Amino acid sequence: MVATERTTVRLVCAECGTEYPTDVPRYRCDCGGLLTVEQPIAALRGTVSRELFDARLASRARLDRSGVWRFRELLGDYSEAEIVTKPEGRGNLYDDPRLTAWAGVGELWLKHEGENPTGSFKDRGMTTGMTHARRLGARTVACASSGNTSASLASYAAGAGLAALTFVPEGKVSSAKVAQTIAYGAKVVQIRGDFDAAMRLVQEVAEVPEYGVYLLNSINPFRLEGQKTIVLDAIQALDWRTPDVIILPGGNLGNTAAFGKALEEALALGLIDQMPQIVTVQAAGAAPFARAYAAGFAPGSYQPVEAHTVATAIQIGAPVSYPRARRVIQNTEGIVTAVSDAAILAAKAQIDRVGIGCEPASAATLAGLRALVAAGTIPAGASVLAILTGHLLKDAEVVAAYHQPDPHGERPGANPPITIDPTLDAVRSLLDSLER
Ligand SMILES: *Cc1c(COP(=O)(O)O)cnc(C)c1O
Ligand SMILES: [Zn+2]
Repeated sequence: MVATERTTVRLVCAECGTEYPTDVPRYRCDCGGLLTVEQPIAALRGTVSRELFDARLASRARLDRSGVWRFRELLGDYSEAEIVTKPEGRGNLYDDPRLTAWAGVGELWLKHEGENPTGSFKDRGMTTGMTHARRLGARTVACASSGNTSASLASYAAGAGLAALTFVPEGKVSSAKVAQTIAYGAKVVQIRGDFDAAMRLVQEVAEVPEYGVYLLNSINPFRLEGQKTIVLDAIQALDWRTPDVIILPGGNLGNTAAFGKALEEALALGLIDQMPQIVTVQAAGAAPFARAYAAGFAPGSYQPVEAHTVATAIQIGAPVSYPRARRVIQNTEGIVTAVSDAAILAAKAQIDRVGIGCEPASAATLAGLRALVAAGTIPAGASVLAILTGHLLKDAEVVAAYHQPDPHGERPGANPPITIDPTLDAVRSLLDSLER
């Protein structure tokens, strides 16, 4: 007997396997488990190939120009008319010998997801999430956010003509992210509480059918489908050479989950021929995942924390995608680690100083990489793909604070602005003092 190959997308509980319809809003199984979108991978064998995706790089067609929808066969069965795209997913892949040497590895590639339309990787998940929201006929979309999801949701909702609400922790989001959100027309709802309180509230809101609010946090499995394309796009840019290590920051852990899913699917489809090691880096003040990893994921080793870090994008104490991310780390022999705020800021200064730039959370990758190489956990000859998740301008407050005058040399590379009289003499003595 030959089993017929499944050709449709399924929505399945990752814990108990219960299947739910894809055309009804739902975020969790009745058992409490998170849901996974299962693509018909077996049926896609023979349809998708490196050559298909490479050919699209030369195309000017709207969907081909998106670094997300270029991989559309792996994202579901949306028609072109349904798809809400900017397009997104066109960030650069950088390599800079100074950063490679600073990290201490053989090769280091930095995929800049901060070069997305709203300045963070969230646009990759938002294009698929918003497309699904439209398919469901949603009129209002919402998220809890430490800022970047909020900005992205606001922009894509505006594009799709939907009302948008973003629940953010009052006083804990950078002014640039709030500015983007209000400018794009979403209603910013500031919560007296932290991100985790906002996340709890928005999940409760989404559970009340009469409110008609569709949730677009990364608990939403359709968002993760778009975020899968970060690694596909980067590996394609490396001419399909799989790096030894892929390293990324971890907050709510949606990306860690999405990366594992992308790589498993790519392996099953023959797009890559080996599984890289996935390394997730948290901020030490927001590291429940790193702590559980250090305890071998023993029962009871995962405990939510009250999160405190300068990297507000990953200031999350109860990551929603924890069970998904744990499975990825276990299945790929991955690593989870944590770095101090001082280490994050020092790594950020390196990335900024070579002219690439990123927001603090993104720099956790380079800080974590350097520490793991120094500890011998990652070999010095490794080839590494690091994900820069957000743009430098997302958090100008942190930059200004870092680059204040630094008489005691506490902040490497601190570069405060100076003030002079408008005279040539003043400029000459300035030039004499420059290192050049
Ligand atoms: C959202 C975000 C993260 C965290 O990603 P998760 O998928 O929630 O782990 C990291 N960096 C930046 C800049 C972000 O916006
Ligand atoms: Zn279940």
